[in-house]
Amino acid sequence: MTSTPLPDTPVDHLASPAAPARTSSTLDTAHGQLASAVAVLGYDEGQHQMLATPRREIHVAVPLRRDDGETVLFHGFRVQHNISRGPGKGGLRYAPGVDIDEVRALAMWMTWKCGIVDLPYGGAKGGIAIDPRDYTTAELERVTRRYTSEIMPMIGPDTDVMAPDMGTDEQTMAWVMDTYSVNRGYTIPAVVTGKPLAVGGSRGRGTATSAGIVHVTAAALGEAGVPLADVTVAVQGFGKVGSHAAAIFAARGATVVAVSDQYGGLRNDAGLDVPRLLAHVAATGSVVGFDGADPLSNADLLGLDVDVLVPAAVEGVLDGDTAAGVRARWVVEGANGPTTTEGDRVLAARGVTVVPDVLANAGGVVVSYFEWVQANQTYWWSEQEIADRLEHRMTSAYGDVSALAKREGLSLRDAALVIGVQRTAEAHRIRGLYP
Ligand code: NAD
Repeated sequence: MTSTPLPDTPVDHLASPAAPARTSSTLDTAHGQLASAVAVLGYDEGQHQMLATPRREIHVAVPLRRDDGETVLFHGFRVQHNISRGPGKGGLRYAPGVDIDEVRALAMWMTWKCGIVDLPYGGAKGGIAIDPRDYTTAELERVTRRYTSEIMPMIGPDTDVMAPDMGTDEQTMAWVMDTYSVNRGYTIPAVVTGKPLAVGGSRGRGTATSAGIVHVTAAALGEAGVPLADVTVAVQGFGKVGSHAAAIFAARGATVVAVSDQYGGLRNDAGLDVPRLLAHVAATGSVVGFDGADPLSNADLLGLDVDVLVPAAVEGVLDGDTAAGVRARWVVEGANGPTTTEGDRVLAARGVTVVPDVLANAGGVVVSYFEWVQANQTYWWSEQEIADRLEHRMTSAYGDVSALAKREGLSLRDAALVIGVQRTAEAHRIRGLYP
C-alpha cells in the first residue's frame, strides 16, 4: 500500500503512483494484431470496427473493509469482447496495473483463442487493480465477493464464465461460485471454471495451460525434426502457468536451464531439478534462494542461448530491444501478450519462430470448456480422458494454424489470428445484424 487512508475514507488504488502505466500499449498490440488479420481477410472498415470493439463493459467500485477496520476502494472491470459464438469466457486478474485497456486487450485475445481451438465461447476478461500479496486471505475473500456481486447482472453459466488468471486461483473461483450461487438460491458450478475438485472442478485443469504449451512446443519442434528431449528451455514466470510448464517440459525429457519470477531468476546449464524447485517455491514463495542453481536476472533470462524461450509472466516483455537479444530458436508464449508489435517484427527478422499466445496458452480454456461441459452434465470425466482430449485439441489446432501459415506465407501469429477472427466474423455473418 502506498498511501495512509483516513478512517472510513475510501482510498483510490487506481490513482496509486505504484500502478504501472504500460497497458495502453497492450491494447495497441492487440489492435495491431487484429488489423493484420483483417488485412489478410480483406474485411471492410465496418467489420473491422465490430471486431475491434467490446460488446459490453462494466466498471465497478469495489470497497473493502480491511481487517483493521480501515476502508479502501479498488476499481474492478469486466469486459465481454464478443459473445457471438457463445458465452463470454475469460479469466479474472488481480494485479496493481490492471486497467480497462488491459482488460479490453485480454478479452479480445480470448475471443480469438476460443475461435482458434473451436470452443463455443466468445471472449471476456475481468480484473481488479489490487496487489493480492498486500492483503490477507479474509480481505481477498471480501474483495472477491463484493466484485462478484457488483458484476452479477453480467455473468452466469450461459452468459459469461470466469476462470483464474494472474493473482487469482481456484479458491478465488470457489468464492465467486459461492457468491453467485447464494444469490441465486442454489448451486451453480458452471458459472466459473478452474474451481477446486471438491466443488465441481475438473481433473487436469490446474496443469492444462502448461500441458498445452508443451503439446504445441512438441508440435512446432516436430516440424523441424527436433525431439522435445533434445532441447534446452528457459521459462520466465514461475506461477500457475510457468511452474507447471517447467515441470512438464522436464518430465518429458527437455532440459530446463533457467526460470524466474518477479523477485529474480535462476540458471543451471545442466538442468534444474524442477520438482525440488517446486518444493522450494511452495516453502518460500519465490524461486530466489534455491541452492541448485546460480542467480540470473529476468533480462538475462530472455537473452539466454536456449532452444525454447517461454515467457509466462506479464505482457510486453519482448519489445524491440529485448527481442533483439533473444537467442532462442522458438518463443512459445505462455503469457498473454508478452511480445509487442515491434518485438514480433524483430523476432521474425531474426528467424525466430513465435508460437503465439492465442494458440500456445489455449490449453487452459480448453479444459475450462471440459469443466463447464462436465458441470452442465453433472457427469465427471477421468484424468486420462481429459489429457487425451486436450492433446488432440492442441495438436490439431497447431496443425490448422501451421498449415494455413505455410499455405499463405504467414507467421504463426497472423495465421492463428486469421482463423480466430474468421470464425468470429462467420458467426456474425450467419446470425445477421439485429435489427
Ligand atoms: P500467476 O499469478 O500464477 O503467476 C505469475 C508469475 O509471473 C509469478 O511467478 C510472478 O512472480 C511472475 N511475474 C510477475 N511479474 C513478473 C515480471 N515482471 N518478471 C518476471 N516474472 C514476473 O499467473 P499465471 O496464471 O501463471 O499467468 C501468467 C500468464 O499466463 C498471464 O499472462 C496470464 O494471463 C497467462 N495465462 C494464464 C492462464 C491460466 O490458466 N492461469 C491461461 C492462459 C494464459
